Amino acid sequence: MIDKNLAERMKLANIKQTKQRLAILTVMQDSQQPLTVDQIYNNLIKKDITLDLSTIYRFLDLLTTKNLVIKINNIQDERHLYEINDGYHRHYLCCLECNKIIAVKHCPLEDYEKSLAQETEFKIVTHKLSVYGYCPECAKKRRK
Ligand SMILES: [Zn+2]
Ligand SMILES: [Zn+2]
Repeated sequence: MIDKNLAERMKLANIKQTKQRLAILTVMQDSQQPLTVDQIYNNLIKKDITLDLSTIYRFLDLLTTKNLVIKINNIQDERHLYEINDGYHRHYLCCLECNKIIAVKHCPLEDYEKSLAQETEFKIVTHKLSVYGYCPECAKKRRK
């Protein structure tokens, strides 16, 4: 089952809700973190659902265009990560070792945006900020 709100937004965007598509979204929804297409594919296999990687890619691209999914770039890996856009603005902590990405909802830049808008008369819509480093597990391994 996918979130009612998400189902509603898909309807508004004229995106058909097939069984396969709902399975992809359920996997993404159940994950606490953004996922790569490979991870989505593997999670589907665990549920006995086999989909082509290209089917998953195409669907995610469609959802990204409609702003229902956020595509996150990984600086040292070509594989993008995807997460359902629930409307919350967030930042990301990216591990350079295991490529794990953790979403952080707290935004420290709201005041900065305001003063920058005043200073430049730029009508600011959004910003992106990702922080790179080593997650606790990887940091521990590196210390050894
Ligand atoms: Zn790590
Ligand atoms: Zn922010």
